[in-house]
Amino acid sequence: MDNNFDVAIIGGGISGCATFYTLSEYTDINKIVLLEKCDKLASISSSSKANSQTIHDGSIETNYTAQKAKKVKISADKLMHYALNKGLQNKAIFKMQKLAIGVGDEECEFITNRHKEFSEIFDGLKFFNKNEIKKIEPKIIESMNGDDRIENVVASGYNESWCGMNFEVLSDNFAKEAIKANPNNKIITNFKVTKIKQNADGSYMIQSNDNSIINAKFILVNAGSYSLPLAQKCGYGKDLGCLPVAGSFYFVPGSILRGKVYTVQNPKLPFAALHGDPDIALSGHTRLGPTAITMPKLERSEHLFGNLSSELLLIDFKLGALKVGLDLLKDSEIRSYVFRNIAFELPIIGKRIFIKDARKIIPSLKLQDLTYAKGFGEVRPQVIDMSSKKLELGEKKIITKKGLTFNMTPSPGATSCLGNAEIDTIEIVKYLNKSFDIDRFYSDLK
Ligand SMILES: Cc1cc2nc3c(=O)[nH]c(=O)nc-3n(C[C@H](O)[C@H](O)[C@H](O)COP(=O)(O)OP(=O)(O)OC[C@H]3O[C@@H](n4cnc5c(N)ncnc54)[C@H](O)[C@@H]3O)c2cc1C
Repeated sequence: MDNNFDVAIIGGGISGCATFYTLSEYTDINKIVLLEKCDKLASISSSSKANSQTIHDGSIETNYTAQKAKKVKISADKLMHYALNKGLQNKAIFKMQKLAIGVGDEECEFITNRHKEFSEIFDGLKFFNKNEIKKIEPKIIESMNGDDRIENVVASGYNESWCGMNFEVLSDNFAKEAIKANPNNKIITNFKVTKIKQNADGSYMIQSNDNSIINAKFILVNAGSYSLPLAQKCGYGKDLGCLPVAGSFYFVPGSILRGKVYTVQNPKLPFAALHGDPDIALSGHTRLGPTAITMPKLERSEHLFGNLSSELLLIDFKLGALKVGLDLLKDSEIRSYVFRNIAFELPIIGKRIFIKDARKIIPSLKLQDLTYAKGFGEVRPQVIDMSSKKLELGEKKIITKKGLTFNMTPSPGATSCLGNAEIDTIEIVKYLNKSFDIDRFYSDLK
């Protein structure tokens, strides 16, 4: 095999696959390789078991400002158009109802005001009062004794929206289309990159754990949680730490909720408030979650303390990043949230504690209807900027301008994959002196 490529993408999750496709379909780059350490693509954060399977366009995500919603909507729309154009309806992309609910007077006022502001961004966004919600999502209103719950509830959302996405199926589709667009391209699985070294001519040598070698003129690292350790091994991103936050889910029977139900974010809390999402890959199940538990792991394993990362502990100890995490605990609301989330993971008592939060969405929920979704969920690699000593909640990019770029893509990284692919493609063609048919990229995805 000829081991020389123009571009090597490390990481075959949704981010790597979306850029693999964009480079292959819309540029004149000759030879691209996608390198993945697992035996198949999209088996970590982009797996259908790992995430909430939502195209986060900002309409119901109450933790997004209007400014952030406008930005993510552009990427979300591209993703939706891609899936619809490729005929992936009910394979990768699913249509359902979606609501952001406010419970109690304070939250109802918040949703009412938010609805007015967000209606200007989202065409056809609808407001629902308690009676209207009862008709379309009755379990939100029904209390334990069958009467309507006492608190007022309002919602903002859509009766129908292409908002469910199986990012694992989509990743495979991107990869397949990339090979179709350019048969010179390659996908190599079971290739765990352990070393990246610059060659004398400015290109790079990539070595795997079994000493296979690939050479490439440009390397794009989309290795999820491992992007930062790989960057630091190459001498970049030394001012960044990582706070890995694992998210798990609980299941309730699919008959309970008809669509997605999102709740109001406590602005003090760094992670999205609890939501309900009908599982599009496992019929008859609806997920509640994700929870948020900090642990020194870069990827999840079957066991609570499996896969602990010594690389990460070393990075964070050296930088004092752990202190940034500990400082968050000084706030009593954050402290209580963190400890509750740890408790959610515990056998037997976990679901007894979780049900109290879940009843905000489904007041009549019974303990026997709730099961811990074993093997579901993943780690969100939240970046800590050590110069500002702050937790960065979005994505982070390290551009070296030397033909080597690293992406860290926590939520909504899957939704933003084509937006990120566009940015990376612009950078890569400039570096390699190639061209990007951006007009066709835009016209195909609208
Ligand atoms: C609980 C949870 C819920 C979420 N819900 C949503 C949601 O509803 N909507 C949304 O948009 N986003 C959601 N996200 C975020 C979303 O899952 C991620 O942003 C997205 O999957 C990141 O994709 P990625 O390709 O960058 O990373 P990954 O999917 O993790 O892919 C990285 C790949 O790199 C490979 N890799 C790592 N190291 C190496 C190496 N050394 N050599 C070769 N390969 C390597 C890995 O095996 C993996 O396949 C959620 C995340 C979590 C954890």
